[in-house]
Amino acid sequence: MGVTLNQSSNFTFNNSYIKLPSQFYFRQNPTPVRKPNLVRLNYKLAEQLRIDPNFLRSQEGIEILSGNRIATGSDPLSMAYAGHQFGTWVPQLGDGRAVMLGEVLDKNNKRYDIQLKGAGLTPFSRMGDGRACLWPVLREYIISEAMFALNIPTTRALAAVTTGEIVQREENLPGAILTRIASSHIRIGTFQYFAAKDDLKSVKQLADHVIDRHYNGAEELENPYIYLLKELIKRQSSLISKWLGVGFIHGVMNTDNMTLSGETIDYGPCAFMDNYNANTVYSSIDQFGRYAYNNQAQIAKWNLGCFAASILPLINKDTDSSIKIAKELIEEFDDMFNEDWTSVLRSKLGLKEEYSKDLDLGSNLLQLMEKDSVDFTNAFRNLSFLSNEMNKSDKDFNKLFADKLAINNWLSDWRDRLNKEKIGSKERKSFMLSRNPAYIPRNHRVEEAIKNALNEDYDFFNKFCEILSHPFEEQPLNKDYLNPPLPNEVVLQTFCGT
Ligand code: AMP
Ligand code: MG
Repeated sequence: MGVTLNQSSNFTFNNSYIKLPSQFYFRQNPTPVRKPNLVRLNYKLAEQLRIDPNFLRSQEGIEILSGNRIATGSDPLSMAYAGHQFGTWVPQLGDGRAVMLGEVLDKNNKRYDIQLKGAGLTPFSRMGDGRACLWPVLREYIISEAMFALNIPTTRALAAVTTGEIVQREENLPGAILTRIASSHIRIGTFQYFAAKDDLKSVKQLADHVIDRHYNGAEELENPYIYLLKELIKRQSSLISKWLGVGFIHGVMNTDNMTLSGETIDYGPCAFMDNYNANTVYSSIDQFGRYAYNNQAQIAKWNLGCFAASILPLINKDTDSSIKIAKELIEEFDDMFNEDWTSVLRSKLGLKEEYSKDLDLGSNLLQLMEKDSVDFTNAFRNLSFLSNEMNKSDKDFNKLFADKLAINNWLSDWRDRLNKEKIGSKERKSFMLSRNPAYIPRNHRVEEAIKNALNEDYDFFNKFCEILSHPFEEQPLNKDYLNPPLPNEVVLQTFCGT
């Protein structure tokens, strides 16, 4: 390939993970690629990260985004981690195809990792080739940025480049690299990696690093690690409730895919559901529905149990007391999640006051949606436009449902409940429109965008990304994108893309 690893500047790195001892990572440069080509750059995100987007799209910038050049101040590394995959313990996973270039401080002095996903072999590659194909890179770009626009904590996409190389899977596919931004890439599996080796010193170092980075204020507490566990439980509960609120199914909630920051990570076989069905599963590898839509909260709780188990010695020196404390905290998850989910539903229904029957009201609507296979996103969006009183525009909403009597009864319950609100119809409407998106990355559209891109036509992909960056806005010119798939367009399965 003959590409030399030149030094270059323009990023202002401020690396902290590399200061941890060497067992946490392997110093690893990306492997150069043949012919890098930029396919999309996130200008706004670059600016937020204080990186000149014009530099990034220059030849030198593209070389950095493809791993052909190492920017000055970058100290590339691959992180070590373990994890439970579909409930099965794997003692060593790690960044098998990702290289972290370093960390930068954004305009608000918030720290972010910059990682190249698909950057070549690392000591953690196991049987893999260290590379990524174009289609999952584009998928992650679309969906992670859509999640950001939907106000859901997430890793983000700064850029996608093609490599000019072929990646061998079941067939030969074009290779690509995603530049992923995360407030950190530390996972529950990172803790498990050291705990499984009984390396308590490293577990503590990692916990202190995480607290310093993500849980400010914990240091002053009598036991910062109990606080860390408590707060992580809160963040995960809140995150999952937000996923459910937009019909998102992650698909691979393995412990190595759950972050300590509380951000969504690893956009593999994830998908948004069209018609509401609580048992929806898309992932081709999730044979038993372990990560189905309505299992996600219980799985998050299970993962939190794994996290607690890996920090037990930090909770209390006495194992029995430690287990007792951890169990009590984990058991709080159910109520916490119930509250978080109720509050998401309340806002989707336009309710600001809190009444005990609100969860029932929301659940009743979901049941009707499930019975009549109603589109989740469109139902809530259309509901937002209804008036507080019965009105002829009700028919636009009612037509989504087969059981007219049931939905009319539900609407009248909803309106009775709206009467208890302090806000008026207009304010309620705009509140609902800010919580119920119009545009989501529907599977059939994602596939269409990718299909076109694989034929080197990026117009659709670029347009789709733009549409999804304003999901709560009415976009009269893009009404087609509101439509659920036609029967022949329905996507039944999604794939991992490893
Ligand atoms: P994921 O399914 O993306 O969460 O990946 C699970 C594990 O497999 C992680 O350790 C990844 O680094 C590794 N992995 C996935 N794809 C590849 C690949 N193409 N080459 C090497 N390792 C990979
Ligand atoms: Mg992963």
